[in-house]
Amino acid sequence: MSLPSQKFMSIESHEEGFGNVPRWENMNKDILSNIFKKLDLVDVIMGASRVCINWFLASHNKTLWKTIKLNELDSIILDNPKEPSMQDSVIEKRRYHLMNILIEINNFSRNVPINLFFNRYTIILEEDLTFISERMPNINRLALPMWKPLSQNSFRSAFSKWKNLKTLILGPFQPLNDSSTARDQFELQTIGETCRNLTTIKLFRMLSKIRANDFIRYLPNLERVSFRRQNVCREAATSLIIGLPNLKILNLTHCRFSELQRGENYESDMTPSEELIRIGTEKLDKLIVCCSDCPICQDIWKHRFRQRDPYKDHNSKEKLWKSDEIEELAY
Ligand SMILES: [Zn+2]
Repeated sequence: MSLPSQKFMSIESHEEGFGNVPRWENMNKDILSNIFKKLDLVDVIMGASRVCINWFLASHNKTLWKTIKLNELDSIILDNPKEPSMQDSVIEKRRYHLMNILIEINNFSRNVPINLFFNRYTIILEEDLTFISERMPNINRLALPMWKPLSQNSFRSAFSKWKNLKTLILGPFQPLNDSSTARDQFELQTIGETCRNLTTIKLFRMLSKIRANDFIRYLPNLERVSFRRQNVCREAATSLIIGLPNLKILNLTHCRFSELQRGENYESDMTPSEELIRIGTEKLDKLIVCCSDCPICQDIWKHRFRQRDPYKDHNSKEKLWKSDEIEELAY
């Protein structure tokens, strides 16, 4: 059996010699659970739950496990070849492989999780995806980065288990290549066929005409869509608004707009067309776009080639991953 982590051992040792002062390990389990909610999940499963039997039992409180946020980079080995510098600044910290963390989480959470959010930079392997879909079938909000290509079988198998999925944040493809369009089409079709309750989606990919058509064809039930901070073809956005019968909110905050698709004399700026604004405001409850002098747009697009501190850059991209003007997509 593993020893408790050092930081929790030190709490216990400080308690010795305090006479009748109530000891941490005897604290009411509900109070302990509320304290554990303030901790990073990895600290609960690898630290607090291993201190004593009372803390172990308090760690099983269901309210701790409804939402699984694996956003902290300090505890999980990312091993992301695209971002080799990601963990340099915290190299001395104790880290675990993602699968080990998922297994431990499952030991505590069972079928309880309904929200599962990964850090933008986490590498999800096929075995990770299979594990979470089989052990966490009740997920209804999911943020899933897609750095590694997953086989069609494992993608379909995983999403077919998430019948209750209502909200999805899906990361970009890596690597981007000619097969991206076919993969994108397969993924959207699979999600549409298997997750009939999906109403809200955010894609970290360009809004092209092909993608807009795939949305209309495969995901006709969508009510809220976000392409926040992406390249957007104006015509594609217009056809999305017209083609999705239930669409209520379209978020195009911090986007860069173009008339044509990438590769076709691609020119862009930060202004949506008047027609897009007119159709959006007529048909939707809310079309969300930036004002012409939005400072965040200036920073993202006009200064995008500026050399930045990589650690700060990762943090700001993670913030973009977790933020959205559509309430269901922010966490
Ligand atoms: Zn903006």
